[in-house]
Amino acid sequence: MDPEQEIAIGLQSAPRMAQEYGGLYQDARAQSYVDMVGQKLVTNSVASNSPYQYDFHLLADPQTINAFALPGGQIFITYALYSQLQNEDQLAGVLGHEIGHVLGRHSAERIAESEFWQTVSQGASVGADAGGLVAGIGQNVLLGNGRGDELESDDLGVRFMIKSGYDPYQMIGVMEILKAAAGPSRVPEFQSTHPDPDNRMEKIRESIKKYGG
Ligand SMILES: [Zn+2]
Repeated sequence: MDPEQEIAIGLQSAPRMAQEYGGLYQDARAQSYVDMVGQKLVTNSVASNSPYQYDFHLLADPQTINAFALPGGQIFITYALYSQLQNEDQLAGVLGHEIGHVLGRHSAERIAESEFWQTVSQGASVGADAGGLVAGIGQNVLLGNGRGDELESDDLGVRFMIKSGYDPYQMIGVMEILKAAAGPSRVPEFQSTHPDPDNRMEKIRESIKKYGG
């Protein structure tokens, strides 16, 4: 899968994914604020040298605490998570983590490994016209990051925060919010895509030391 295919799949899946979280949050100022913080992280990091087109979207869902990235740079945060963040640094932590998923090609790798993709890529020419294909890519394939992917994205997120002058310790604060949200009876969907806030905190502290934050 090349970057153009990743971007095409991301752009084509974005409306469907947004719909599942109530569409875009209807507040232009909040949208541009989220995009401003995201673009700042991109501009000041290696992400700006990647072929991807980064877009940051605030989704209306007031209950599902989540953030996710599609291949090629489409990044989303739900209002439920956004509204719990205490400062811009924490927002930068969430978005930096998601940029890490894009740069690490985490969902692109899962798609490429999927039976679905292997079938279509043998038969069809898969270019910018990926519209008909994305319907066959399940949400688990798109969003189900493994533990290794999460830790790698946390590490990159910390690095991006420092590069843009944000306080990387606020990433720990994000983990506290996630931990509180992932109570026994709540948001299993979130737990499946972003496991183990406790273990992540320890690794995040190591990353902060490593990058001198
Ligand atoms: Zn993640």
